[in-house]
Amino acid sequence: MATVDNAWNEGEVEYRPSGEENAQKEHARHAAITMQVAERSFETVWNDCLEIIKADDQVSDQSFKTWFKPLEVVSLIRAEEQWKLTVQLPSRFYYEWLEEHFYSVIRNAITQVLGPDGRLYYNIVVQRNADAASEYGGSTMQLPARRPANEPTAGHTMHAPQTQPARSRERVNPKLNANYTFYSFIEGDCNRLGRSASLAIAEEPGATPFNPFLVYGGVGLGKTHLIQAIGNAVLERFPTHAVRYVSSEKFTNDFVQAIQRNRIREFSKFYRKIDVLIIDDVQFFGGKEKTQEEFFHIFNELHQSDKQIVLSADRPPREIKGIEDRLLSRFHWGLTADLQPPELETRIAILNRKSADDGIEFPPSVIEFIARNIKSNVRELEGALIRLLAHATLYQRDFDVSLAKEVLRDLIAEKAVKLTINQILEIVSGYFDIPPSLVRDKTRKREVVKARQAGMYFAKQLTQHSLKSIGMHFGGRDHSTVIHALRSVDNEIATNPRFRQTIEDLHGLIDVQTR
Ligand code: ADP
Ligand code: MG
Repeated sequence: MATVDNAWNEGEVEYRPSGEENAQKEHARHAAITMQVAERSFETVWNDCLEIIKADDQVSDQSFKTWFKPLEVVSLIRAEEQWKLTVQLPSRFYYEWLEEHFYSVIRNAITQVLGPDGRLYYNIVVQRNADAASEYGGSTMQLPARRPANEPTAGHTMHAPQTQPARSRERVNPKLNANYTFYSFIEGDCNRLGRSASLAIAEEPGATPFNPFLVYGGVGLGKTHLIQAIGNAVLERFPTHAVRYVSSEKFTNDFVQAIQRNRIREFSKFYRKIDVLIIDDVQFFGGKEKTQEEFFHIFNELHQSDKQIVLSADRPPREIKGIEDRLLSRFHWGLTADLQPPELETRIAILNRKSADDGIEFPPSVIEFIARNIKSNVRELEGALIRLLAHATLYQRDFDVSLAKEVLRDLIAEKAVKLTINQILEIVSGYFDIPPSLVRDKTRKREVVKARQAGMYFAKQLTQHSLKSIGMHFGGRDHSTVIHALRSVDNEIATNPRFRQTIEDLHGLIDVQTR
């Protein structure tokens, strides 16, 4: 999967000219295409691209429908000697999928229709409330769609090239990923302190006691997301602030290059004019003495002028090796906050949000299945969802627990204890206070049916038994009855909070009693 950091930078479809073509002929051909294109609407241009894509052997009818049909063309602009065609995507997931699977197909179509100067840009539409919309210029191509007319666009929104000359003052490209906002960052016990401190900082960067602010925690727990959310929120509030996100590796590389090219002065001047400096993964400064020294001076200067410094690390500062004491002690001047692995509720909330953002509804049992089985980190949680989504769309399968089990097999740690259906039956019976024999029986009494269906649901979630075998264990019912039971449970969970609680209680009991 393409990395999400700076994802838009990769959204540009590049063309590498073939060396064989004769330069003059090439030039004439460009000119001809440019004239042709200029006379056509962006819709027809995009339709031509779609025709080529559709005809491509690498794109099946199904993929075409799934991945290209939902794209909406929004503009075609001639600027900087290039044709810039912009299409709108329903979610980041689409973007990543297209880039990963159809990069060459798209490039081919664009080149054929727009010529070698053709570029494709993506607008990723993230539907969310006003507090989260955030966008900026440069190569970033992200615009919230269908913005209500009464809601002003942020002052720093300048993505159309023809508006660029109007910029009066030089802007710093923040290098932020617009998807990393507070809105998309789910709050939980695991991140409460870090999140609220971040919110406070975003309100008044440089003016809180949290300066510097250092977030630490393991891989995939949301450090990058959170510190970028600060940057995005600051720009939202203070569009003219100079915000810069940089990884410590990039900072180091840039610094080394600056030395080689004799441009140290420019380098340090650039960083000294930043209002909110966000440096990710500072553990990589370990052992890099020269870089640390440069950073130390930048740090001091920014801090003295009440500029905000935000840092992340994969471990508590005192455990970072190879960092000078004077720098380490500065990390403690402000606030350090840790991010912990998310609890079950937070994992469920994150999965619900991500699937809603992708416009896909997963049954609660599937969400719960993933949340119960993938615990250590949010990135894996997301990966699981995306993998499932891809399988379900490509193979036109329903999103259900069997699919989840199958697709995520390698991600899910085998339970140490093999749970039996009888154990489940015992626990469920005990909980509802109904004898197991009655649960298995043909009774249609509401309470009993509920217990039976819950039993089947857990048998499906927690064991490897087939539907048929589950039916056998619950009084010799056939597999369609089991399917019906699983659907009813999903419906109940979705619509009835009390029942949802029952299922959670039971899940907890099963966990505890069979550990
Ligand atoms: P880290 O930098 O700590 O390795 P990231 O910030 O890259 O982790 O997070 C990994 C993924 O998990 C990202 O896609 C991020 O959006 C997501 N994520 C992490 N924490 C949360 C959260 N609390 N709510 C929503 N998404 C989260
Ligand atoms: Mg990170």
